[in-house]
Amino acid sequence: MLKLRNRTGVEIAVLPYGGIITSIATPDRDGQFADIVLGFNDARGYLSDHPYFGAVIGRYGNRIANARFVIDGLNYMLAANHGRHHLHGGRRGFDKHEWDSTVDGDTIALRRVSPDGEEGYPGRLEAAVSYRLTDANELVITYTAQTDQATHVNLTQHSYFNLRGEGDGDVLDHEVTINAARFTPVDEELIPTGRLAPVEGTRFDFRQRRAIRESYDHNWVLDGGDGELRHAASVRERTTGRTLDVFTTEPGLQFYTGNFLDGSLVGKSGRGYARHGGFCLETQHFPNSPNEPSFPSTLLRPGEQYRTRTIYRFGVS
Ligand code: BGC
Repeated sequence: MLKLRNRTGVEIAVLPYGGIITSIATPDRDGQFADIVLGFNDARGYLSDHPYFGAVIGRYGNRIANARFVIDGLNYMLAANHGRHHLHGGRRGFDKHEWDSTVDGDTIALRRVSPDGEEGYPGRLEAAVSYRLTDANELVITYTAQTDQATHVNLTQHSYFNLRGEGDGDVLDHEVTINAARFTPVDEELIPTGRLAPVEGTRFDFRQRRAIRESYDHNWVLDGGDGELRHAASVRERTTGRTLDVFTTEPGLQFYTGNFLDGSLVGKSGRGYARHGGFCLETQHFPNSPNEPSFPSTLLRPGEQYRTRTIYRFGVS
């Protein structure tokens, strides 16, 4: 287990397996610490079936329709691990591999080489993820990658948060702001239709802070310029005062409210994680971008550097 601890006592633990963040301990408004991410006590828990608790997702966060794409006229078939679609990198994505790891001061650095053809993707991809914990209670995540053949890359982080503390009920009364005027509507298999729709007048409008209340599993088109660090979202939990702010250079945010949790996975506190027991804020490019030419591109060519940054800032109000 790799650990970071800052001067205010915030502590983050990470497993080299999957780059999984296994715990994040932060104070509430009275200085009481709690672990605010879902997961298991035992590293073995992460080896069994679970919905990507805390993991790095690669090569591609979210869905690629029909598990295929075309690059330069060549057709690539990916592993279909979600019906006929590809989800979160395939059968054995980056979440199910041991990463090389080092801890240096305030930073955990993870690296892995994804060989040419892995889960159907072209090119040997050298990927690196770093987790840096600042004294301002920010977890700064930097993702980089290079390839030797044109391929698609869309790395993200799949932590499930409950700002009351993991295992403490559902998150539906957490209050959320998402800085996005548009979202990507999906079909019944959660594949984007290709349209960017206004949130105005829909249940997807989180531009004013409000309680979550219902299920979400959608991608928002974040306001702001190309590649610049933007304030994506903000979450507040009233009883503890804990807040979470997300900043990212990515154009999209998948907001997932743990709709598929059903109480069968028993977490760190010994309680089953019920439906809506945690939410994910996955900063990324839009789902199915390889097959949607109008979406910002996820194509990475040899000689190019993939580099994105996301900051999770923990606070109290
Ligand atoms: C996806 C969900 C999926 C979940 C866990 C999310 O990123 O959008 O559809 O069920 O991850 O696998």
